[in-house]
Amino acid sequence: MRRRTKIVATLGPAVASAERVEALAGAGMNVARLNCSHGDWDGKRDLVRWVRELNTGLSPIAVLADLQGPKFRIGQIEGGFVELQTGDTLTIGHGHGAMLPMADDEVWAAMAPGDRVLFGDGDVEVRLGDCNHGVFKAEALTGGKVKSRQGVTLVGKSFDAPAITDKDLEDVEEAVRYGCDYIALSYVRHPDDMRRLREIVDRLDPTVRLVAKVETPEALDLIDDVIEASDAVMVARGDLGLQMDIEDVPIAQKIIIRKANLAGKPVITATQMLESMIVNARPTRAEATDIANAILDGTDALMLSGETASGAYPVEAVRTMARIAEKTESTLDPNERLADPEENPDRGAPTEAVALAAVTIANTLRVRAILTTSASGTTPRLVSKYRPAVPILCAAWDERTQQQMALVWGVESVRMPPTTNTDEAVAFLVESFRQRGVLSPGDQYVVTAGYPTGSRGNTNMILVLRA
Ligand code: PEP
Repeated sequence: MRRRTKIVATLGPAVASAERVEALAGAGMNVARLNCSHGDWDGKRDLVRWVRELNTGLSPIAVLADLQGPKFRIGQIEGGFVELQTGDTLTIGHGHGAMLPMADDEVWAAMAPGDRVLFGDGDVEVRLGDCNHGVFKAEALTGGKVKSRQGVTLVGKSFDAPAITDKDLEDVEEAVRYGCDYIALSYVRHPDDMRRLREIVDRLDPTVRLVAKVETPEALDLIDDVIEASDAVMVARGDLGLQMDIEDVPIAQKIIIRKANLAGKPVITATQMLESMIVNARPTRAEATDIANAILDGTDALMLSGETASGAYPVEAVRTMARIAEKTESTLDPNERLADPEENPDRGAPTEAVALAAVTIANTLRVRAILTTSASGTTPRLVSKYRPAVPILCAAWDERTQQQMALVWGVESVRMPPTTNTDEAVAFLVESFRQRGVLSPGDQYVVTAGYPTGSRGNTNMILVLRA
């Protein structure tokens, strides 16, 4: 059984050599994530090069640049940190003269008595009291250490901050320059945030696909429109769990995945999937179950952050995730996984109808694979939406599309030689995947194609053939 769920692994100091990146790929990494919140592009240049050097032509690894977005932080604390006990009284100011200095004008302007403020990953929580002469009194609801420059979350409050910061703009330029296949936007609050990013990226390279990180209550409220305005989405559970009550996160995950599935857009489930493997060689039972449940929810991809970027067991984490995914997928019933065609949002489109029919035929005849040719990746993405039991093999007309297929559930890809028509493309696909051991002589397979032969963006035909 070939693994269908994709693995996004964040690159960082724990894998900062060509050999370590190759080991991650060998363990099952499909997408390499560069976190723009850490390090600079000088450091990322080698990471991208090492990933690209691994691309041997079949199912290459995609590169995803994850923008920091408008992240709010406290300023410099005298002595570097403050240690709070639960119940302690503290002061918060804007600048100097208080125990904790708030660095950002937007957060300061939004703060009001009664608000809850979280620091770092939410380990320390305080409630604001009265504000006198520009200084809030506050009570520590959960004590702990607050360090200089740590992230701040004002629970349930939205700010009037730009969705795309100056740093993000610089990172977009670098990400495009380094050939990243996907760019993810953090703290999306409105579909217009994605549209604005689309305009910016289109001016540089319109083939780059955009991922909306869903991590604010505002994005969740407008989830249909956010998905519509994006090429893919991420269930960014880390910040979602800070911005909303933690008990709301599991259901939010299910809603986002279900809606992305129905829209035929790839969805990544992220954060703390194997958190304990940052320090331990084996995961917890709960983590193994979390991975399996995300797959059962319908996620296209699973993401590792600190586990691979800075953990002690990066390769083992990817390998563990891959094993759990393979086992979970082997229990799925293909007929149960078919998205309901009645819920198909685009029932008038021939490509969608052909994709659904191809999957129905593949499941009925128990063929070995579904073969697609694709310029933009739309046909394999829509075939993937209906979760066939067999591999989806894609002959991509260009390198960018081929790399982008790395994020899409169940799709394996090969780069087509230039000026190939559909007949030659199918012969090329069959041969490539025969060499790879996916197809054997005599195997039956389904092909989606465009008629007249050679036309692009016009998938309107299904064939059932033998290798
Ligand atoms: C998250 O919050 O879950 C997330 C993926 O975002 P970050 O880049 O901040 O880890």
